[in-house]
Amino acid sequence: MSLNSAQQNSLKEKLDGLKQSIQEELRQHNPESLQIQSGEGDRLTNDALNADEMAQYLHHHAEWQALQRAQARLNENVADICSECGSAIPFARLEAEPTAERCIDCQSKLEANDHRLHLHPHSSM
Ligand SMILES: [Zn+2]
Repeated sequence: MSLNSAQQNSLKEKLDGLKQSIQEELRQHNPESLQIQSGEGDRLTNDALNADEMAQYLHHHAEWQALQRAQARLNENVADICSECGSAIPFARLEAEPTAERCIDCQSKLEANDHRLHLHPHSSM
């Protein structure tokens, strides 16, 4: 962990802000049925949500999980360690994207896989 305490605090504040805005949005969409817990208490499965709501929910759910992971990583002092290769993640990257858990190399490899041939082919193949 190479972040100093000011950097850690700044990251923590960003994550807290993100958490509040996700909670706010989830509350608006699901005023009663949604209880946010850290576990997988997925009570929405049987609810009759329309596709839009479901897509929104899944989007926020993914965001929420990324947020939980980021907070856990911060607590374990590994917020700036890439979860793939163990390299340091530059603080500027974390500032721009507080839930980032991979270094730019690993992230771009992942996205290259996601987008198939959309990006430049990698020399490793
Ligand atoms: Zn990496």
